[in-house]
Amino acid sequence: MYYSKLLIPTLREYPGEAEVISHRLMLRAGMIRRLAAGIYNYLPLGYRVIRKIESIIREEMDRAGAQEVFFPMVLPAELWRETGRWDQYGKELLRLKDRNDRDFCLGPTHEEVVTDLIRREVKSYRQLPLNLYQIQTKFRDEIRPRFGLMRGREFIMKDAYSFDTDETGAEKSYRKMYDAYMAIFRRCGLTFKPVEADTGLIGGSFSHEFMVLADTGEEAIVSCDSCGYAANMEKAEGRVAAGFSLRPQDVGTDLQVCPELLPLEKKITPGKKSVEDVAVFIGVEEERLVKTLIIRGGERIVAALIRGDHELHEIKLAKLLGCTEAQLLSPAEVEEVTGAPSGFSGPVGLKGIPIIADLAIKDMVNFIVGGNERDLHLLNVNLFRDFAPDQFADIRKVREGDECSRCDNGNLAIVRGIEVGHTFKLGTKYSETMGATYLDEHGRPHFIIMGCYGIGVGRTMAAAIEQNHDKDGLIWPSSIAPYKVIILPLNMESEKVYGAAEAIYKGLEEKGIEVLFDDRNERAGVKFKDADLIGIPYQVIVGDKGIKRGIVEIKERATRAVKEVEVEKLILTGEL
Ligand SMILES: [Zn+2]
Repeated sequence: MYYSKLLIPTLREYPGEAEVISHRLMLRAGMIRRLAAGIYNYLPLGYRVIRKIESIIREEMDRAGAQEVFFPMVLPAELWRETGRWDQYGKELLRLKDRNDRDFCLGPTHEEVVTDLIRREVKSYRQLPLNLYQIQTKFRDEIRPRFGLMRGREFIMKDAYSFDTDETGAEKSYRKMYDAYMAIFRRCGLTFKPVEADTGLIGGSFSHEFMVLADTGEEAIVSCDSCGYAANMEKAEGRVAAGFSLRPQDVGTDLQVCPELLPLEKKITPGKKSVEDVAVFIGVEEERLVKTLIIRGGERIVAALIRGDHELHEIKLAKLLGCTEAQLLSPAEVEEVTGAPSGFSGPVGLKGIPIIADLAIKDMVNFIVGGNERDLHLLNVNLFRDFAPDQFADIRKVREGDECSRCDNGNLAIVRGIEVGHTFKLGTKYSETMGATYLDEHGRPHFIIMGCYGIGVGRTMAAAIEQNHDKDGLIWPSSIAPYKVIILPLNMESEKVYGAAEAIYKGLEEKGIEVLFDDRNERAGVKFKDADLIGIPYQVIVGDKGIKRGIVEIKERATRAVKEVEVEKLILTGEL
């Protein structure tokens, strides 16, 4: 392709609207332009990258036995009412009415549509398993669209849905998609990690997020340095040191190597409310304290016990309580519930609300808690002697350096990532609410078991940039680069230079290599700057001096390594 004929409106300056590097570089490299908040035009260079990613996805999905379909973007409300998501989805669902005043929405995802299709068309176990996928534009009316293609409102997504007769089949389908995703992101040239994830709003029994690792990532990922265990923060479990146990039923067993239990003591702590203040006042480490957080989750109020130096993970607690949100009570509410000012809550003598203790508390002895009275704390508190939690559960945030819960010698690190893909095993959530059944060999009906699998195509492009760029611009992984080679004739006045450059261009094109020929009448400096900015993997530099000797330079964008190659040989072999 001749550069002069292509719409590549590069910008010298960073556009003010962009906050993250991928967004800035896509704008600067003339790949996208904003039409409205979170809605973008894809220009020729940008769309070539999108098409590259899509074709890798198609190849791997087809290889995994999935079949491509294409569903509408405008979806009737009835289907969404059937699953209850018309109400649940809230404002993210962009609703509209047709001329007959019927309700529709723009599809943010297609579980309803595909389940409706399957319940009509699939009758027998003989028609299963099935896996249908599409690559299509979705719309989610994000409250705060930002970061360009990373969190847009309109976006291109690959979504797939699997249908099986039994659990074993469903797990096999899930595994196939998992493997396909590994292949897709590997082929896109990305450094990524599949992490165990929470199932969130879509629901289901297990799921993975595919995270491209980048310091600019929005999500924190917990990852073991030894066994490869990785999970998102909501799901991550740190290990609880195996030690002694104070449970009455364990007394006398080999778990007992317990330090001496000291007598309970009262300690006046005037105005000392925070863990830090109390620890300093008493002269102990924060990990000797247990904080008592009074929390509302749904209809329930509970006391959550967390070691002083640990942090409560609200989502873990909310899940445990079977609700979507867990929140601290206000100081006034705490006083009403516990009878003491907030900051002095404690589990000893606490009445009327259940106590949920984090697993890390199991092994603690002689610890310090609030005294449920103004300016009072209790020292040498012990489990089961002074109070008994109603439940132990993992409700804290994992920290950098915590021991791994899956292996013996690993430590957990927290890294950042960008979610580019997500796999869910849905189970029968949608087939039950929408009545999608099949008949087995005895003619008995069963619910179809489903899985769903998404990849953000534009987001994958953005993530590739977050991971591959330098101060001069983009550095595309070869497999998704808009062109593989850019040819830069430096002296447009010289017929020899231009002639050689054009001969190389034609030679490479004939070999099926995607080449961009910078035939613009621009200075060498401008051409170098633009070539670096748009990030084509190889630059063929055609200059006066080299041409006299019959050679050109090939510069690799990623490493900046330069080598000399004979013009004849390059045209003949196409080897870069
Ligand atoms: Zn591990």
